[in-house]
Amino acid sequence: MNLPGNKHKIVIIGAGFVGSQCAASLMTLGLVDEIVLLDVNAERARAQVMDLDDMASGIPQRIMVRTGDYDDCSDAEFVIIAAGRSRRPGQSRRDMLADTMVSLLPIAKNIRESGFSGVSISVTNPVDVVTECLYRQLELPRSQVFGTGTALDSARLRRLVSEYTGISRGQVQAFALGEHGESAFIWGSHIRLEGIPIPEYLSLGIQSDTSCLDLSYLTQRMRQRGTHIVAGKGRTEYGISTVVAGIVAAILHDEQIMMPLSVHLEGEYGESGISVSVPCIVGTGGAHTILEVQLTEEERAMLHASCEAIRGYAGKALDRL
Ligand code: NAD
Repeated sequence: MNLPGNKHKIVIIGAGFVGSQCAASLMTLGLVDEIVLLDVNAERARAQVMDLDDMASGIPQRIMVRTGDYDDCSDAEFVIIAAGRSRRPGQSRRDMLADTMVSLLPIAKNIRESGFSGVSISVTNPVDVVTECLYRQLELPRSQVFGTGTALDSARLRRLVSEYTGISRGQVQAFALGEHGESAFIWGSHIRLEGIPIPEYLSLGIQSDTSCLDLSYLTQRMRQRGTHIVAGKGRTEYGISTVVAGIVAAILHDEQIMMPLSVHLEGEYGESGISVSVPCIVGTGGAHTILEVQLTEEERAMLHASCEAIRGYAGKALDRL
């Protein structure tokens, strides 16, 4: 329960499927007191607000949901960037770069000029480039400007491992790292089932089919998940919104959780000037600690390849900033 005078305000930029579902997830968890939706399509933002405000009637906590403008960022604790449009079937996240950059620069300028000093969480794709762009534009510490990155891929990975082993998702520890996209990879040497490494678990002989825990198979299934969802319903929204709400909760409650997020690197893992997903600790203040964990030589090469892939398609867009 929040104390009077300690209200939590969040601005969501982009009132589409993702932005509105983020609002719904935050409301359901009773995490914030005030949600402001901004969208170039003012009619859509108003309609989403009306729908969410109807939802608020069924929630015990008093929550104000409204439309607003960029001045609202000045005293917000969080800004969530979900502006853009859903990925089209057959389209990769990288293909969205040109369209995204057109709207992103004015958004960044408006946030900065509002005097925003809170935590910015990027969701818009390609999320690693969007995060790096915002980091360069917002003039805030990198702990306060990060993207959801492979947090969603990691949730998908834990779901897969749970499905194949029958062990509860909550007892699966598994991270995907690198680009949120085609070059995301599994930190394979780290996967544990309640602390037990996968090879040791398999040696117990209780798992009849071991092929589905093969890393290349898991990687393929994990990477294809978003594409399959987009092919079937034209977008994804629920998984990512739960990820965003989890990050907001971790910060508001100072949970000190470890999770992969897309963060600006300054020499960690030998990479600089790029935002990409690596393990972070999240609590008060945002992604306050970047963990430089021990990767195998192969994993380090995959992280570097992922960074190179991002540099390859984002280079020109980022060079202009
Ligand atoms: P959508 O088309 O439903 O909504 C996007 C909204 O952004 C629209 O209402 C549009 O009017 C608005 N918008 C566009 N330009 C704007 C601007 N300059 N200022 C304010 N609003 C603007 O799309 P969606 O399904 O909600 O997806 C939004 C973004 O989230 C996409 O980039 C999508 O790829 C991304 N996404 C990311 C993840 C992830 O894991 N990072 C997961 C799902 C979706």
